[in-house]
Amino acid sequence: MSYPLTQTRFGKVYLVGAGPGDPGLLTLKAKGLLDHADVVIHDALVSPPILAMISDQAQIIDAGKRRGRHSMTQADITQLLIDQAKTHAVVVRLKGGDPFVFGRGGEEMMGLMELGIAVEVVPGITAGIAAPAYAGIPVTHRDYSSSVTFVTGHESKGKYRPQVNWSALAQGSETIVIYMGVHNLSHIVSELTAAGLSMETPIALVRWGTRPDQEELIGSLSTIVQQVEKQQFEAPAIAIIGRVVNLYETLASASPMHSPHWATIQA
Ligand code: SAH
Repeated sequence: MSYPLTQTRFGKVYLVGAGPGDPGLLTLKAKGLLDHADVVIHDALVSPPILAMISDQAQIIDAGKRRGRHSMTQADITQLLIDQAKTHAVVVRLKGGDPFVFGRGGEEMMGLMELGIAVEVVPGITAGIAAPAYAGIPVTHRDYSSSVTFVTGHESKGKYRPQVNWSALAQGSETIVIYMGVHNLSHIVSELTAAGLSMETPIALVRWGTRPDQEELIGSLSTIVQQVEKQQFEAPAIAIIGRVVNLYETLASASPMHSPHWATIQA
């Protein structure tokens, strides 16, 4: 696989999904780009074994952002991509999970396209599917859930569009998968239960999904906030709400991550 310079005076930027952490979940296309990249600009959620796969020839730039500790602003990152595309043929913007799922990939792509810089997306496996899967929780199941919604628990402060309509989700989605929800969990739980979701509805949190240190916390809407406090369970984690969570009991033992070093936290 080779990625020649485009006809423009700029190189090309690839917005590449690195998946949730397990290097085995990287796509072949992403791997090919890591082999051929001149420069890789990655975020904080790209796992160490994947960073270790980057070609020795490539320059590596950490643009990592974690909640409350922004090391670069989004505008800085877009500018950095533009600058790198002026001097390198193959610029890889490597993001955890999928670039277009709560990854600001759309914003970066628009910023580059406005300047006529060639850009292409390489989808990745998103944490909202993979973290539950590695915990033994299928996000849909013919007997328990015919719908799944991916939603952010950390909303950008409502200037541009309405807030998440938790009430509609409580009524309309059998499985709810929440990204960035740990810090806002008690608010989310009270919104969902106020809208009629039973306090007994099962919920799972999966932290560092697909990585060797994956941890789960299983409870119900009535218990989970206390469990999170008691266990000091922290981000990054995916929350899964709905009847599919009950499958954890049966399916978790078959998880790809199931091994003695894999901590399972139960209340
Ligand atoms: N683009 C990413 C999501 C970025 S938003 C994707 O598609 O997966 C960041 C949030 O994703 C985190 O706060 C957490 O909720 C979730 N997340 C990312 N990687 C995760 C992992 N390995 N395990 C659990 N949650 C993860």
